[in-house]
Amino acid sequence: MSATSSNPAETPAAGSTGTTPAGSTPGSAPTRSRLIVLAGPTAVGKGTVAAAVRETHPEVWISVSATTRAPRPGEENGVHYWFVSDEEFDAMIDKGDLLEWAVVHKAARYGTPRGPVDLALASGHPAMLEIDLQGARQVRETMPEALFVFLKPPSWDELVRRLVGRGTETEAERERRLETARAELAAESEFDVTIVNHEVHAAADELVALMVGPAPSAP
Ligand code: 5GP
Repeated sequence: MSATSSNPAETPAAGSTGTTPAGSTPGSAPTRSRLIVLAGPTAVGKGTVAAAVRETHPEVWISVSATTRAPRPGEENGVHYWFVSDEEFDAMIDKGDLLEWAVVHKAARYGTPRGPVDLALASGHPAMLEIDLQGARQVRETMPEALFVFLKPPSWDELVRRLVGRGTETEAERERRLETARAELAAESEFDVTIVNHEVHAAADELVALMVGPAPSAP
């Protein structure tokens, strides 16, 4: 099924680029199957880092979340998110189709379709979820074997600069997101690893090294 299917629960390859899974390409180095949960405050660049991983490491499967928020210009259904109605989101919750979900920035609901994650891991892909802190905490409960990575801005001022520079939110939304960001920054110690996002490609490389390299020693 293609990534443009209208049903996130039935799209095992929703976040895949359609390339051969890691470990199954003849001659390629086998990679360890590992679930990475990437979280961090708003505007820190999680989406940009995830896009850089997608570009340079197509063997990494990245989950496509469902959300009730409206698409921004340029965002495509099934690629950036599954854009669903409140009723559709309710149905996904009721059927147990979501691995985790949360109301983010007091504005919209976001959730990770469970089936595609299970299939990606079963097929040996390194897999990644890019979700908020509330979602990361839920996954910690159900999949404690995942590696939890906190993406951090170089400084608070830089975070504010990135959020303002992005220009995709209204003033009120920005304030709400900064409020959430303050609380999220305080949660860094709950994570296994911190990556500082000085530069997007360097951060993406650090992230991929965690998926395909040796496991970091236990804290
Ligand atoms: P945005 O609206 O800017 O795309 O995303 C807003 C926030 O929602 C980001 O912090 C992002 O990490 C989070 N988010 C995206 N997908 C999910 C998801 O499936 N679950 C949870 N809990 N948060 C998500």
